[in-house]
Amino acid sequence: DPPAEKHEYQAEVNRLMDLIVHSLYSNKEVFLRELVSNASDALDKLRYLSVTDPELLKDGPQLDIRIQTDKDNGIITITDSGIGMTKQELIDSLGTIASSGTAKFLKALKESQEAGMDNNLIGQFGVGFYSAFLVSEKVVVSTKSPKSDKQYVWEGQADSGSYTIREEKDPEQLIPRGTRLTLYLKCDDKGFAHPERIQKLLKTYSQFVSFPIYTWEEKGFTKEVEVDEDPAEAQKKGDDSAETKTEPKKKTKTVIEKYWDWELSNETQPIWLRNPKEVSTEEYNDFFKKTFNEYLGPLASSHFTTEGEVEFRSILFVPATRKEDVTADSRKTKNIRLYVKRVFISDDFDGELFPRYLSFVKGVVDSNDLPLNVSREILQESRIVRIMRKRLVRKAFDMILGISCSENRDDYERFWENFGKFLKLGAMEDKENHKRIAPLLRFFSSQSNNELISLDEYVENMKPEQKDIYFIAADSMSSAINAPFLERLTEKDYEVLLLVDPMDELAIQNLSSYKDKKFVDISKEDLDLGDNNEEREKEIKQEFSQACDWIKNRLGDKVARVDISNRLRSSPCVLVAAKFGWSANMERLMRAQSM
Ligand code: ADP
Ligand code: MG
Repeated sequence: DPPAEKHEYQAEVNRLMDLIVHSLYSNKEVFLRELVSNASDALDKLRYLSVTDPELLKDGPQLDIRIQTDKDNGIITITDSGIGMTKQELIDSLGTIASSGTAKFLKALKESQEAGMDNNLIGQFGVGFYSAFLVSEKVVVSTKSPKSDKQYVWEGQADSGSYTIREEKDPEQLIPRGTRLTLYLKCDDKGFAHPERIQKLLKTYSQFVSFPIYTWEEKGFTKEVEVDEDPAEAQKKGDDSAETKTEPKKKTKTVIEKYWDWELSNETQPIWLRNPKEVSTEEYNDFFKKTFNEYLGPLASSHFTTEGEVEFRSILFVPATRKEDVTADSRKTKNIRLYVKRVFISDDFDGELFPRYLSFVKGVVDSNDLPLNVSREILQESRIVRIMRKRLVRKAFDMILGISCSENRDDYERFWENFGKFLKLGAMEDKENHKRIAPLLRFFSSQSNNELISLDEYVENMKPEQKDIYFIAADSMSSAINAPFLERLTEKDYEVLLLVDPMDELAIQNLSSYKDKKFVDISKEDLDLGDNNEEREKEIKQEFSQACDWIKNRLGDKVARVDISNRLRSSPCVLVAAKFGWSANMERLMRAQSM
């Protein structure tokens, strides 16, 4: 046999391995979650590719994961019948850091160490394949891709900077397709090599894997067997007639017959196919956390089936917190996992299934109407997808409205703090859903004492003669509340929305009205509060016209016009924006952007 080839790890892998072996001791058990999720990904890939290329399944149709333990020698093997790896794929995947998730982990770890925190990052991120070294001193990966006719073996030790690759020559070790990982556990971790331990971990970490996971376990059944009665026993019973010694007496005994067999260790029915009435909140929370790698349970969830024109099932969630990488304009957010007839298709969308501004909503969608080999192009053009999108968006808004109606006002405050910006973006981008978005918006107001109010609350608080919704945009609460424009409205006890977030004004401008009430910027000229005394105004205008001319002359191009105003009460003068021009706040924004 040719000797095994030796390969060096990429520098980052070395660094990661060093961390794993020497400093990450807590939460070692996540190794199983990582390895099972790789097996499940490999099965997903194969199932997906086999839709268009059934030849890939020629080595056996079964798609499953099998875990065997050897407690005496401290060995665990995890075998999947998935896509496997070619030699080059082995080198690329297990010698370099393939996934951005692992790179992110390294970055976060560095930051948290600098901040002197010792949090549970490994549980949060996972370190993928390399987590095998949390518990193993040696890892052997034997793998066969349907693209290659050879099987290759990767072998790595915990404390060396290199790994080896060789071709599998031992006929006993050949597998038809897929990957078998053999973990040689460290002394202290041999306890993991036990079926019960593995089953318990599977329950915690991998219960939503959609392929069957079998564990090799010892089983037993009881059996009645006939045994000869001990002759000495028979003697004692005083049976002394020597002639009857011929046949030994029989008696029955219960024994346990032991054997080993595969035991199905997970529930493979996806949670979204179950009846919502039979799924507990706990189960939804667990599903959410495991599927989307979240720490906290969701703020709200919605599980529904739609029938009729287009049929699909879905569970949507609003997370309780916002991850840093989720921003209102992030493109690919992996927030929606699309399945077709239970086959995972993709979570890599760019607004086809869900508008980008709702990218904070997470969920799964399973459709029976889309073709399994659905591509991005098909998604973009499909009428079915358009209908799905519409329904999903509606359900998402219902769910958010549900939070806003909750008795617990904190819930919506929390939601707004995390995701308010997204909804403002929605008000700017999605005219079709203005009716759904507007009631969900929140603003500060001149009468709410630093509390956010809804537009419904504003409308309820309107004076009987008040026709419009008034707002002023400013760069801070104090400049908004001290603006001279407010004086006349305050005098009339009219509430004014204080738009202090740059996006507030854009959102309001796009909505333009709410419940037939126009939004009116009180900093613009021509503010009509419906109480003008025209006679008197005329007189005053005449009286001061010369003064106005004089001031305009002095200011020159700095102002467009100088006018008598009826909107001031205690301030001597105010600068207003032209009716069709930018508001002062907008100008400030534009200026900030062009710098
Ligand atoms: P990630 O799963 O995030 O990509 P991992 O470190 O867990 O990162 O795995 C790295 C890569 O190794 C995977 O992307 C995959 O290509 C490959 N891989 C790992 N385990 C398997 C497996 N059981 N079958 C096929 N490929 C695998
Ligand atoms: Mg992985």
